[in-house]
Amino acid sequence: MTRAVVLFTSDLRLHDHPPLRAALAAAEEVVPLFVRDPAVHAAGFDAPNRSAFLADCLADLDASLRRRGGRLVLRSGPVAREVGAVAAESGATEVHMAAAVTGYGHRREERLREALGADGVALHVHDTVITAVAPGRVTPSGADHYAVFTPYFRRWSAERLREVCPAPRTVPVPDGVRGEPLPSRPAPSLLSPGLPEGGEKAGRERFARWARSGMPAYEDRHDDLAGDATSRLSPFLHFGALSASELVQRARAGGGPGAEAFVRQLCWRDFHHQVLAARPEASSRDYRTRHDRWRTEEEAAGDIAAWREGRTGYPVVDAAMRQLRHEGWMHNRARLLTASFLTKTLYVDWRIGARHFLGLLVDGDIVNNQLNWQWVAGTGTDTRPHRVLNPVVQGRRFDPRGTYVRRWVPELRDVEDRFVHEPWRLPEDRRARLGYPAPVIDLSDGLARFTHARGRD
Ligand code: FAD
Repeated sequence: MTRAVVLFTSDLRLHDHPPLRAALAAAEEVVPLFVRDPAVHAAGFDAPNRSAFLADCLADLDASLRRRGGRLVLRSGPVAREVGAVAAESGATEVHMAAAVTGYGHRREERLREALGADGVALHVHDTVITAVAPGRVTPSGADHYAVFTPYFRRWSAERLREVCPAPRTVPVPDGVRGEPLPSRPAPSLLSPGLPEGGEKAGRERFARWARSGMPAYEDRHDDLAGDATSRLSPFLHFGALSASELVQRARAGGGPGAEAFVRQLCWRDFHHQVLAARPEASSRDYRTRHDRWRTEEEAAGDIAAWREGRTGYPVVDAAMRQLRHEGWMHNRARLLTASFLTKTLYVDWRIGARHFLGLLVDGDIVNNQLNWQWVAGTGTDTRPHRVLNPVVQGRRFDPRGTYVRRWVPELRDVEDRFVHEPWRLPEDRRARLGYPAPVIDLSDGLARFTHARGRD
């Protein structure tokens, strides 16, 4: 009897899963394995919101495997050790897994290659499981990655994607491989109350619904804060409960400007992956240094606390930060303007903001979070690194009636539209009664400090 192990990582699905398909083609029985690595916990990457979503994804994957005659084997410990042990226990001669782009992913792969190689087990790493186009597949001449999005998008769009693989009908799993009980969701008191349910089934249902009713208007409405007209598929993509490659192909098949705009956003995801694959250190170091003298945690403690808690006195910033705490998710436009406010108006180190986001975001992702933070901070791939988003202008433009603000900042519920993004303009007695804070900073002071302090390019 030939056997193979499929190591699931950020690809918690059965549809469009090349490693599973290859393992089933190569062996009569496979061991679908997920390893809880203590290194992930030690690095603080298992924030409660994501742990809850992960628990849903694992339960759903196990249920889908059981419907196909198999089950998910869960183990805890250093990944290389556990995969080696499972291969030995099951007599597997090969291991299949998805390629990853982070420093952690590279180290994991190296250790696996070393440990499995010593035991004569082959490691097969598949490179279009997490992204639609593999990092490094398209490059400009003379460089190992694209640093600018538009030319990357052009080349990426012309790439032929591999065929979508259907979910297998049966997954025969050998008896006798030891597994642990699947994790449960952390206690509700640790979680954002509005957290979505995870798992491949929930993800596929959400995509099907959204493709019908949301995607056609996506191009026009994606920046409408109150309309909430984006797909909210990011946590499913983060955990790989949905395949980016399949979504691109299904959206293209549907056609239309909404689908094109949606595919462009999925390209941003691939773009950041190819940057981090080439520069893994950009998860913590400036991709491009501007010699900033950012304010530190100690220097800006009061401002940082106000930003985290959604009481900066800038309504659209506060609405967004409260949405993040409540849902473990935030609209992209809101992420842009809150990150700009922290890094440019308050002139605080982007890493402090990125850490706060990672502590709460259900889609929190080293690749997309860190590189988007760098993009906004001006240390990343933005070709206009010094632009500053004005929260009043952004609020008026993307939440013209103040609906988004009123949803998350109840103190401003009864304020007229013309004051809702500038409550400090209300007569003093009314303003005082709102119980809403005065602005932590004058925007022109913030702009002057950023312009003066950010150093020379
Ligand atoms: P949609 O608008 O429906 O887009 C579809 C998909 O495209 C998204 O699910 C996502 O996978 C991808 N996508 C869209 N915009 C981007 C982008 N700018 N960069 C990369 N991929 C994108 N996204 C994460 O997945 N994880 C993060 O940790 C993360 N942190 C961010 C931090 C900051 C400061 C900023 C500005 C953006 C961040 N993003 C992150 C990108 C983006 O905000 C989210 O992907 C998007 O808001 C998710 O909502 P959606 O699924 O409804 O997106």
